[in-house]
Amino acid sequence: MPSSRTYSFTIIAGFVCLSAICFMIVPSRLHAALLTACIALFCCMLLLMIRRYYLEQERMFKRSEDRIRQMAYYDDLTGLPNRRFFREQLEAALTDRRGIVALLSVDIDRFRLFNDTLGHDFGDLILLQSAERLTRCIAEGDVAARMEGDEFILLLRNRNHLEEIEAIAGRIHQIFDSPFIYPDYKLHTTVSIGVALHRPDDEPIDADTLIKHASIALSRAKDQTNSPYVMYTSALDIESYERLRLENELRRAIVDREFELYFQPQFDLATNRMVGVEALIRWNHPERGMVSPGKFITAAEENGLITVIGDWVLSEACRQIKQLHSIGFRGLSVSVNLSSRQFLQQDLADRVAKVLQKEGLEAEYLELEITEGMTMDVERSIDTLRRLNELGVRISIDDFGTGYSSLNYLRKFPIHKLKIDRSFVRDLMEDPNDAAIVSTIISMAHHLGLKVIAEGVETQEQLSYLNHSHCNEIQGYLFCPPVPRDELLHVLMKHA
Ligand code: C2E
Ligand code: MG
Ligand code: MG
Repeated sequence: MPSSRTYSFTIIAGFVCLSAICFMIVPSRLHAALLTACIALFCCMLLLMIRRYYLEQERMFKRSEDRIRQMAYYDDLTGLPNRRFFREQLEAALTDRRGIVALLSVDIDRFRLFNDTLGHDFGDLILLQSAERLTRCIAEGDVAARMEGDEFILLLRNRNHLEEIEAIAGRIHQIFDSPFIYPDYKLHTTVSIGVALHRPDDEPIDADTLIKHASIALSRAKDQTNSPYVMYTSALDIESYERLRLENELRRAIVDREFELYFQPQFDLATNRMVGVEALIRWNHPERGMVSPGKFITAAEENGLITVIGDWVLSEACRQIKQLHSIGFRGLSVSVNLSSRQFLQQDLADRVAKVLQKEGLEAEYLELEITEGMTMDVERSIDTLRRLNELGVRISIDDFGTGYSSLNYLRKFPIHKLKIDRSFVRDLMEDPNDAAIVSTIISMAHHLGLKVIAEGVETQEQLSYLNHSHCNEIQGYLFCPPVPRDELLHVLMKHA
């Protein structure tokens, strides 16, 4: 497209020619002058129009350039710089090296749970408010960016002392103390912070490596609730390698069928009979021997393998209990722990129905254990629980008293049993508060028409107290630890 200069030049040249022609062909000088003036006016207007057109074009071009820049360098939702922009800024800071360069990788705890259970609108709101809060924690010249999902990162430039960085980490925790406000909720959450530093006299480092260090420190911080932040050290590299190795090993364990189920008996206190068992997974590792779920369930939840493992647990538990029924131990029920990922599956009830049908187990002998945290999205939970209830499956709330519970849901949800958490039972005889909590849970559950089971019963005194408080069932080492199926048969023969 020709430039505005070309147009202007053409118009002025045209004007000069036309004026000359006017003076040559119009006999009266006065008329020629008047005509030239008219042509001059017309040309000026034309020039103005062209100028305006070009200015408008320039503005539009600038706007689209800004928009492209915005899209390339900023996050759509929060308006914060994105990973690309952040990386460029970090590269510049690392070449400058006038003081300590610090990266603070910040992650909102339990964000995935909020997002999945309360909906994406709520998730977006948390992200927006988090972005605004983090921006308030940094000084001019620092950068706050959103990396992905609920992971934010702060770049602090030219700091002289570690204390300054610690103070900012402290401020972030403080600012996240106030709840997120949503029309119907006030939601409290915390953040985890991983810190990576580069001091002026350190070996040069590239931006990607420093970002990776901050993210390794963050993943460690997520496992530790007692420290305000975790500082990256090379020892953490080994841990993240271990995590990856565990994930690969779990994948292999699924293929090689290395999982086993142990069963822990549950006794009815009124009849003294064994009424059920809880199925607890074990990993029969070829080198490490029997690995307890505490060592791999969290990892499996994080990497998503828990759904495959959970499906296996459900089928295997139903299959084994059906076998026990068929050799004469009728009436024995099995409790299976569900992970939050399993509970969120839209087709959970259909899956459970299919397993029951395949294994030929009547639904009344299956109990599913969920935890309080899984039921935060009340509407969705009611729907899932209602469908499971329609199948005839029973539901119990595991580790009751340790999560975020609302007494309201106990009224609304079709649940059958509360499992008092082991931590209350443990200190029952020493701590009067725990004793009061246990009695209160039992009496409240009974008023709501729910059964109560106490887990982790280890002593005769605890048993007496629970008996006295009219607890319905108990489970614990006092009677029997989790045992493999063959040993369970012996226990059954003794107690059934
Ligand atoms: P949980 O569902 O609360 O299971 C009870 C845990 O308490 C079991 O630990 C059991 O061995 C232990 N326990 C039972 N009685 C006593 C006692 O008297 N004293 C003490 N100190 N402990 C006792 P385990 O088998 O290591 O399982 C730990 C957790 O792992 C379970 O807690 C459950 O949350 C999870 N888990 C186990 N199997 C599965 C599974 O198949 N799927 C899922 N999603 N989670 C599972
Ligand atoms: Mg359980
Ligand atoms: Mg429990």
